[in-house]
Amino acid sequence: MSDIQLLPQVRNFLQRDLAHFIDGQYRFGTNKTGIPIVNPADGETITHIAAADMNDISTAVESSRNAFKGSWANISPYRRGVLLNRLADLIEANGEELAQLETLCSGKSIHLSRMFEVGQSAIFLRYYAGWATKINGETMTPSFPSIGGEQYTALTRREPVGVVVGIVPWNFSVMIGVWKIAAALVTGCTLILKPSEFTPLTLLRLAELAIEAGIPAGTLNVVNGTGEVGKALIEHPHIAKVSFTGSVPTGIKVGQAAMASDLTRVTLELGGKNAAVLLPDADVDAAVAGLVQTGYVHQGQVCAAPERVYVHRDRLEEVIAAFIRSLKQITIGSPLDEEVQYGPLANQPQFNKVMQCLKIAQQECQVVFGGKALDRPGYFIEPTLLLANSAQDRMLHEETFGPIITLLPYDDIDELPNLINDSPFGLTASIWSNDLSTILQLIPKIETGTVYVNMHTYLDPAVPFGGIKSSGVGREFGSAFIEDYTELKSVIIRY
Ligand code: NDP
Repeated sequence: MSDIQLLPQVRNFLQRDLAHFIDGQYRFGTNKTGIPIVNPADGETITHIAAADMNDISTAVESSRNAFKGSWANISPYRRGVLLNRLADLIEANGEELAQLETLCSGKSIHLSRMFEVGQSAIFLRYYAGWATKINGETMTPSFPSIGGEQYTALTRREPVGVVVGIVPWNFSVMIGVWKIAAALVTGCTLILKPSEFTPLTLLRLAELAIEAGIPAGTLNVVNGTGEVGKALIEHPHIAKVSFTGSVPTGIKVGQAAMASDLTRVTLELGGKNAAVLLPDADVDAAVAGLVQTGYVHQGQVCAAPERVYVHRDRLEEVIAAFIRSLKQITIGSPLDEEVQYGPLANQPQFNKVMQCLKIAQQECQVVFGGKALDRPGYFIEPTLLLANSAQDRMLHEETFGPIITLLPYDDIDELPNLINDSPFGLTASIWSNDLSTILQLIPKIETGTVYVNMHTYLDPAVPFGGIKSSGVGREFGSAFIEDYTELKSVIIRY
């Protein structure tokens, strides 16, 4: 087992001065204090990135505004689609460089970086590009009767909201960044991205590729820094909309700041404490294989991943044995090693948070598998399986966003809706069974944005995705995103 060779482009990128990408070029601003970018696999600093000051923020907003009213507005919908497809081609052509850069700062296995950050990003971008020529209003006949013989007709137009701020977390920087780029640009908006301070590298590279694709300067700007920079962007008077992905507490702050800033539009894709239920007839091997694959992928740092699993008491022993068999087979190690499936947590705060969860778990649950940090440099924590003692155990309620699945047995199917819905979150849930009638009775009773059957965590660009309750506001993908990035203008004509 050994690490792949880093590409020369990756080494060169890490040697460069990195800051913000505004109006088609790098801008270094006045703030020279670099934020260290750390490789979570060994805790070493790989480069630094400058944080934006107010001057950089104002320059970025002005540039995005000019592009919104000028260069991007002047490009036809057909051409927008062509340019987004070209960007998808360039993401693939430069895929290995993007994948390596992302793995270096996020700890994501190189397979996942290639598959999701590169492959899926290109697929999502091409899906959105197809919408470019299909964003339309409606015509309608007004319903009031004519008094003096005059006639009326009416139509609606879908108009882009303006300059959008996209705030991106550290778990899937490129892919989540691309969702925001695609939705904003295809509707005619321009976008300022604020990457996570832990994973800013790939979105800078993506902004360079957007220029190479022919997307006009200022249409996509990238501004770096901590949450303070995100906050200052939201509060800027010329921002029309914020699209945020991240935690619930930060999402609430973002929503409040957006509302306080003259009712700036906001969509929020937040966390989850996602439930999976195995009905009495479930195929245990298939269900456990699916839950291990989706619950521990990227060390569990996936908002839609299953974290709590309800199992019929008659099948509990069988399920535990299947989990242990499967967890023992996971290969743990350097994320740059192609043989490895499972690497470190993405950063020190996330490592600390999951270690805190394990402390709680030791007090309240039985640790069935794993449960501790690995004795090696970097932020490695074992894939962990817990058995809760009661439905009140905190590990069934608090989002860990880590490699921890907690099991709880149930006795009667009628208990399931209450167990699943006993959470402030409402992002995803899964049902594992072939009992169609029970599945169809359960689906309407589950309070989540997505319900999976015999699968979990599958995101498709054609299928709307988002949360209910405190898991978020608004939907991405499908045609649902159009409403969030456009204003509906009504036109009434008398003749
Ligand atoms: P946060 O929600 O704190 O951060 C997400 C993004 O928001 C980052 O770019 C962050 O910048 C930025 N940000 C932070 N504070 C503000 C603010 N006041 N105004 C505007 N933007 C802000 O997530 P963390 O990265 O700290 O992760 C913590 C937890 O969030 C995880 O343990 C997990 O529970 C959850 N999470 C959920 C994700 C999801 O996909 N739903 C993804 C990632 C995390 P910066 O990083 O520079 O501080």
